[in-house]
Amino acid sequence: MKPRLPLVELVLCALCLWAAWYHTPAGALVRTAGAWVFRTHTTARPLLAYYGAGTLVPPPEHALPLPGPVPPAQALAYGAFAVRADLGSPPAIASRLRSLAQTLHSEDAAALALFCGEETAHYAMEHAGSQPHLIDLARALPPSKTCVSQAAQALMLGGAYALAWPLPESVRITSPFGMREHPLLGGRRLHAGVDLGVMKGAPVRAVADGIVRRASSDGVNGRILVVDHGGGVVTSYCHNDELLVGDGDHVRRGQMIARSGNTGRSTGPHLHYQLDLGGEPVDPLRFRAQRPKTAVGASD
Ligand SMILES: [Zn+2]
Repeated sequence: MKPRLPLVELVLCALCLWAAWYHTPAGALVRTAGAWVFRTHTTARPLLAYYGAGTLVPPPEHALPLPGPVPPAQALAYGAFAVRADLGSPPAIASRLRSLAQTLHSEDAAALALFCGEETAHYAMEHAGSQPHLIDLARALPPSKTCVSQAAQALMLGGAYALAWPLPESVRITSPFGMREHPLLGGRRLHAGVDLGVMKGAPVRAVADGIVRRASSDGVNGRILVVDHGGGVVTSYCHNDELLVGDGDHVRRGQMIARSGNTGRSTGPHLHYQLDLGGEPVDPLRFRAQRPKTAVGASD
């Protein structure tokens, strides 16, 4: 009698071989050895990767020093320069802004004058209330003025350049902003902030005056604070051990707002510090460079 073809066994066997070939250290070893012998490329993972998932990636031995902040009095000038490099150097823009602010009695009006001209700024000041913000000044002008949106962008970027740092500057950055292999979930994902390697309990300080928009806890961010600094500038502080302020609280620059920790989805004690401009995360280190990059967008 002819034996029946063991089709199911055959399929299961093929499945086992496929899994062993692509998803086990032994398969990776054979594939790597094969590629080495035949001088070809392989997509096999390095053997250590099978045992490294979920562990803290050791930081580089010599972390790059934190770039220094821009001179505080020139923060808005740096923001204006990033929007339009043809306005002159940041120190030159800063002195022009100072004299404009003296005549117009408002920093927002000075920014408006820089981009739309002094006459436009004076007209807007006459039609807006006392101590107006840019949004009040913009209401007094025709809606299609692109120079108004440039002024708004300069004020937002200037706000980012003026930010302090949440921890002492000596604290090492253990994971920078940008696309990275996720240490816990795998796959390439955007790391939307910077990770600062600090032990549990370190004082976390507000980087500028603002209002606490969120003080809560979840499985991903742990104990998280989100602070709105106005003008489209928002900062977040994740994985804290303890929050020292609540929803709606006003905080001052340098005020201790939390104690750092290891809560939420985290591989070790650290602070995840994030800067959002106009609702998009950006690299906070870009706003600490001595010389601003031009054409700063809000999308990277
Ligand atoms: Zn992070």
